[in-house]
Amino acid sequence: MVAENDPLVRFIDVQKSYDGEILVVKKLNLDIARGEFLTMLGPSGSGKTTCLMMLAGFEPATHGEITLAGKPINNVAPHKRGIGMVFQNYALFPHMTVAENLAFPLQVRGMSKADTEAKVKKALDMVQLGDFGHRRPGQLSGGQQQRVAVARALVFDPDLVLMDEPLGALDKQLREQMQYEIKHIHQSLGVTVVYVTHDQSEALTMSNRIAVFNDGIIQQLASPDNLYERPENAFVAQFIGENNKLLGNVKSVNGQSCEIEVDGGGVVTALSVNVAGPGERASLSLRPERVIINPEIGSCPNVFDGRVEELIYLGDHIRTRVNVCGHDDFVVKVPNASGHAQLQEGNTVKVGWTMEDCRALDIYE
Ligand code: ADP
Ligand code: MG
Repeated sequence: MVAENDPLVRFIDVQKSYDGEILVVKKLNLDIARGEFLTMLGPSGSGKTTCLMMLAGFEPATHGEITLAGKPINNVAPHKRGIGMVFQNYALFPHMTVAENLAFPLQVRGMSKADTEAKVKKALDMVQLGDFGHRRPGQLSGGQQQRVAVARALVFDPDLVLMDEPLGALDKQLREQMQYEIKHIHQSLGVTVVYVTHDQSEALTMSNRIAVFNDGIIQQLASPDNLYERPENAFVAQFIGENNKLLGNVKSVNGQSCEIEVDGGGVVTALSVNVAGPGERASLSLRPERVIINPEIGSCPNVFDGRVEELIYLGDHIRTRVNVCGHDDFVVKVPNASGHAQLQEGNTVKVGWTMEDCRALDIYE
């Protein structure tokens, strides 16, 4: 018996090598809950698609086990796994109408004509293409074709849907609209989605949890807000959102806080998240919106002189590049409400931040 709250998918010590030498997936342990929207996010070549292909059954794992609803599936053929799939190139059958494309997965499952018609209609309505059943894919826009692909992946009510960069070919506006549509479909159906993207804002928008991949390893697995607010290593800090990175040497560690001598000058008091110890290297991570220009005296343990190098007006905030602690690429997002008019290129200002907002991390190699 499989309990309701057991994970739907488990990767257990999964490794993958294509050439028998290099492991492109190193040791994957990952549980995916029923109903979850889990995103695999990472740069190109980090092993995301390989993981999806192993779950779909198109690539064998070199080592380890994958289970679906409690059952090992390493030796189950792809079409017997009951998984829906959407890929970047829509892969619709060009000679069939939209309705025939959707009916296909139902016909191969032996569904009656009447049931098939009802399901196809429901799936087309879900992606707002109720009137397009008679068209061929070539008569639809890119966004519409991708909606058909989403409908086709869901038409047979799978428990699990895999999506690999499904919006990669769409322009920015359509991509953002489709992100919300897919998110809402997920919410209303309760289906489990494993989604692959290299786009961090897409991952933050859509996911319950994000697994950040690099180099065949999950660097961190967390909810979007936790990933952004509490990155556990320098790779995640740099990959998710905008980040000020300062390298330096650990001077001391005192419980939660530590002091870092920054390369280029200045001693910073930071939150000791994961530093090796005094004398070792560390990477500081500090979000641009958490830096305060001209802080009130005493509100920040870290206050340095900074030279304003560049001001870019962006409406809701002023993107301000300052030279601080010997780094001329330090970015501060100054809210438009806080008297930015006084800032001028070339001026020297006080730049400050709290201990909690500055995370001391192991340097990432
Ligand atoms: P991602 O989807 O994160 O971009 P992939 O899983 O596609 O990464 O690729 C991970 C690594 O495996 C890359 O170095 C890639 O070149 C390699 N790779 C992917 N598919 C194959 C294949 N069919 N044969 C050999 N190497 C592959
Ligand atoms: Mg890929």
